[in-house]
Amino acid sequence: NRDSSAAQAGHSPAPLPISKKDVNMETKIFPAADPATPALAARIIRSGGLVAIPTETVYGLGADGLNPEAVAKIFEAKGRPGDNPLILHVTGPEQLPLFCHHIPDVAYLLAERFWPGPLTMILPRQDIVPLQTTGGLETVGVRCPDHPVTLAIIRAAGVPIAAPSGNTSGRPSPTTAAHMIEDMDGKIDGIVDGGPCTVGVESTIIDLTVTPPRLLRPGGLPLEALEEVLGEVAVDKAVTGPLAAGEHPRAPGMKYRHYAPHAPVTVVTGAPDRSARRILGLLSDQAGVICFDEYAPLYAGHIIHRLGPAADKSAQALSLIHI
Ligand code: AMP
Ligand code: MG
Repeated sequence: NRDSSAAQAGHSPAPLPISKKDVNMETKIFPAADPATPALAARIIRSGGLVAIPTETVYGLGADGLNPEAVAKIFEAKGRPGDNPLILHVTGPEQLPLFCHHIPDVAYLLAERFWPGPLTMILPRQDIVPLQTTGGLETVGVRCPDHPVTLAIIRAAGVPIAAPSGNTSGRPSPTTAAHMIEDMDGKIDGIVDGGPCTVGVESTIIDLTVTPPRLLRPGGLPLEALEEVLGEVAVDKAVTGPLAAGEHPRAPGMKYRHYAPHAPVTVVTGAPDRSARRILGLLSDQAGVICFDEYAPLYAGHIIHRLGPAADKSAQALSLIHI
């Protein structure tokens, strides 16, 4: 809804302290610019540990995607339900046959055009990919991320890296190493600091096991870009609206709560001037407003988080932060 704006009301957004009982290991920080980083991070992955990795979309919480015990640690650190599958991060289309079968030609066309980049393809899994990684599904999500240090780590590890977004389940996805530290310090072996993510939201997920291919989750790559390559693309019901009781989304993650900030949020939709009147009534010195740039002047003197121009979805994706 182009005209909608969101207001945040209630208590100040104090970050939750990490509970002491969870802090039980040293989390090392590896700068992306350090030439030793890929080998050090790869060694942790190979030995079954957890490393946060930068990608262009969001920071991921990575483990050896072929090692069920390593993968189990991801679910534990995030508090992620076991039926919510992980995405396998690979070095490029040449690795598709190692982890998938019945790969249609369009998978290679998509990879050629959009990889490395924010596109995840769902394909039938090879037996080498454990069910722990796929949340019990016979399919697997595969993506080649566009970040040089993460590609170097995957190459050095010699295994695909299973990595969901690095946040605690339900929280906003991390887009800087500082966000990663906030959520995972003391719970994982290391964090590779690759700077801020350039896309800021998750990858787009396309299911290539059905005809026509089906968009399961909107993300960093627009639907229109997929349609240019694929022609007709079906859009899963879970993308366009809430599912009825008993209906299951094809992307299991779509049934869970996402991007929940610590502070209470009130969403106000409608014409800008009417919305502004309502929002101004909700603001206080502890409650700010999240709005598009155009509407910021309406709230002068209040706490404002600007989401970018109303028409610029890429800028908006980048400004969705840990608020
Ligand atoms: P995250 O990496 O946290 O963005 O989560 C990955 C999401 O990708 C999951 O929550 C699922 O919704 C989706 N996904 C991963 N693998 C599959 C698969 N094999 N089939 C359908 N959806 C998948
Ligand atoms: Mg996630």
